[in-house]
Amino acid sequence: MQLEIRGRKLVRRTYGQTSDNFVRQQRFVNDVSHELRTPLTIIRGYVDILERYGADDPELFREAVSSIKTSAQNMQSLVENLLFFARADQDNQPMIKVPVDLDELLKNFVEAYRSPRVHITKLAPCKILADAEFLKRMFTAFLENALQYSAPDKPVMIELTTSDDAAIIRFIDSGIGISAEDCGKIFDRFYRSDKARTKLENNKNSVGLGLSIAKWIADRHDIEISVDSTPGKGSVFTLTIPTI
Ligand code: ADP
Repeated sequence: MQLEIRGRKLVRRTYGQTSDNFVRQQRFVNDVSHELRTPLTIIRGYVDILERYGADDPELFREAVSSIKTSAQNMQSLVENLLFFARADQDNQPMIKVPVDLDELLKNFVEAYRSPRVHITKLAPCKILADAEFLKRMFTAFLENALQYSAPDKPVMIELTTSDDAAIIRFIDSGIGISAEDCGKIFDRFYRSDKARTKLENNKNSVGLGLSIAKWIADRHDIEISVDSTPGKGSVFTLTIPTI
């Protein structure tokens, strides 16, 4: 609902759907502003410090440059994710699906990721219809989370198995886990659990958009996502993908 003054008359208008959009848009602008404020504050703070003392203290200089760099990367990643949604919401996200050997794709993806913590434990051959670039983007979201939300010495397992008409991929970590209440919200745009916020302490790349992008991609490939998690023990994200 919105109040509007026309001439000297006060007119009350109810927008229905539009009102929901308005509220959603306001929340969105609020979320984006909030996400930009932290890196900008860090950058401003370090630039001030550098201006005053930076040139005389090499350690301070290194710390400042590193923090400014991380903050700029976070902002860049936020902007790229926002652009993804801007295009997706306008149906302007072209997707070309072709037959893909999922086992090959997954193997190459993990090799290219180059993390000694990531292990493929099962790799059943199978074919699906997909846009490989989008699929890799989706895998990245699950893998980055599995790595980020578990201790740096803990491995992350990926397995690919098949059933009659589906391929099943599991991302398995032994990290901080997700509460039952949070499990229902983690695919919402900008949602992050309090635990995740505390763990990443503002200096890691986390804005709460990775899983909502993954879900968008999954929906366009008829992929079902399920989450099985125990706080303090770890999480398993399971993707069920129709095979051809
Ligand atoms: P973020 O950029 O914060 O990682 P995501 O959309 O990728 O955003 O994830 C949303 C939230 O879901 C995270 O902030 C975290 O609270 C939770 N989450 C996702 N994956 C995991 C995981 N493997 N282990 C624990 N928590 C997770």
